[in-house]
Amino acid sequence: MSTPDCSPQLRLGVVSLFPEMFSAIAHWGVTGRAFESGLCQLHLQNPREEASDRHGSVDDRPYGGGPGMVMQAPILATALAKARVAVGGNPKVVAMSPQGVQLDVNLAQSLAREGQLIVVAGRYEGIDERFMARHVDLEVSVGDYVVSGGELPAMILIDALIRWLPGALGHEASATQDSFSEGLLDCPHYTRPEVYEGLAVPPVLLSGHHSEITGWRRAQALRRTLDRRPDLLKIDGLSDADRALLNKWGLLPQ
Ligand code: SAM
Repeated sequence: MSTPDCSPQLRLGVVSLFPEMFSAIAHWGVTGRAFESGLCQLHLQNPREEASDRHGSVDDRPYGGGPGMVMQAPILATALAKARVAVGGNPKVVAMSPQGVQLDVNLAQSLAREGQLIVVAGRYEGIDERFMARHVDLEVSVGDYVVSGGELPAMILIDALIRWLPGALGHEASATQDSFSEGLLDCPHYTRPEVYEGLAVPPVLLSGHHSEITGWRRAQALRRTLDRRPDLLKIDGLSDADRALLNKWGLLPQ
């Protein structure tokens, strides 16, 4: 699945045993538009093509025994070399792993600036450690839980970083207004109808008063972050201006 080359901002390679899964991000919404417009290019490399036996084996039993199978380093290395050629340049190689650094907005922003990137998705018990040692620059986790394969984590990573490519979102400012981009959760959002099951839209949003609306939204974002993510913001960390804003809207915690 390759898109036409019209100076993509990001050339992505993915090494995966299940390349078909990536159709989930290739055709719909923000990521689909990024691929279809050529903003981002995707090359999929299946290590199964490198298998030399008649069963198409890419994995083997773990040394030392134990359950499950391990993806073999030489096969992955050949697939990665092909992905490097397809992507071009000098791409950073990221392997999806529950043992990696946890994905956050800063990592997504910095990987979006790479220009070329290859993402390796593991399966089974994981990947032979020597492939990691020789070929992988960074292991990335999507959270402290284990899923069955690296494809869904890779798609989460790719989606999160495409949002930071200039021009990927319809509205330029959207990504910077989203949760985490400025260290805060997003404010609540409302659309029609004006009253839903007895709940009215906050009147300030109907006022047409833009500076009031901006202030209210920031106060809401601050209060949500204080309540839901005290690891991101503590009451002592508020600036005088933010404290005053919370006070004005009756949102300063007592
Ligand atoms: N035995 C491994 C462990 O406990 O660390 C888990 C292997 S998992 C079943 C198979 C593959 O799924 C991994 O190689 C990795 O690519 C992917 N994976 C699973 N959980 C992940 C997570 N939280 N973040 C990123 N990738 C993950």
